[in-house]
Amino acid sequence: MEVIQSIQEMQQRSDTFRRQGKIIGFVPTMGFLHEGHLSLIRIAREKAELVVVSIFVNPTQFGANEDLDRYPRDLNRDQKLAQKTGTDILFYPSERDIYPEGYLTYVHVDSLSRILCGESRPTHFRGVATICSILFHMVKPHFAVFGQKDFQQAVIIRKMVQDLRFDLEILLGPIVREPDGLAMSSRNTYLSDQERDDARILNQSLHRAEQMIRGGEVKASILISEIQQLIDKKRSTRIDYIQIFDPETLQPLAEIRKQAVIALAVFVGKTRLIDNVIIQVPG
Ligand code: AMP
Repeated sequence: MEVIQSIQEMQQRSDTFRRQGKIIGFVPTMGFLHEGHLSLIRIAREKAELVVVSIFVNPTQFGANEDLDRYPRDLNRDQKLAQKTGTDILFYPSERDIYPEGYLTYVHVDSLSRILCGESRPTHFRGVATICSILFHMVKPHFAVFGQKDFQQAVIIRKMVQDLRFDLEILLGPIVREPDGLAMSSRNTYLSDQERDDARILNQSLHRAEQMIRGGEVKASILISEIQQLIDKKRSTRIDYIQIFDPETLQPLAEIRKQAVIALAVFVGKTRLIDNVIIQVPG
């Protein structure tokens, strides 16, 4: 595995591989890798001849009072994990190179970025869309793999790729969970023991909603209220949103008739966690 810091070097390597007709697969991350990230690297490994993983804690996707300064970082550990999982190039650009002095250009995927997570994090998806387009121009991948854990992010990036005619495909990898169901996240390290215990309710409540749907419940309001009651029972939780929506448009659904996503964002102590399930109604 090679570690590349220089943007020019990354672009030259990608140009060479493209000239050789090799398929480049890309997994963008903010590092502090866990099994969720590694599962995406494995998906890329299966389909690509060159697997590039980027690590960049992107300042423009953090709000003013968010955790940019204390976001966990461990490059040594990340290097070992990335290499073990079959990464060819670890791209690790500096903040100064990505956003040089005088940087002014941002990508804003309209309406989709204002709802759900965008309501409480108004500049978040602008930062995400911007860094993804910058990285796509540097890595020049044929496809990029994103996690279902950040479902709205994947929808927004797909829309950006479609609207701006980026010549690449966006793939979605399933959510990887801890043994007790909590979705893996670099931010789980912030949780105290009590909060970690309470955090299990996120997945458990989604699971309960799935059970109700299997039992014939179709009304979003009833499902949402059940999830809400379960989460509110835990002392350290504060709900940001619970929403049931169409997987493509992200528009809220009153009833679940075919495909739907149930997604939630919950503060557990001071840590904001997200989770979701995709619902496929048979028939
Ligand atoms: P991050 O480092 O948090 O920016 O995440 C990088 C990529 O990993 C994104 O596409 C996330 O959706 C994905 N990811 C994060 N957590 C998980 C997880 N538990 N399972 C699958 N993918 C994940």
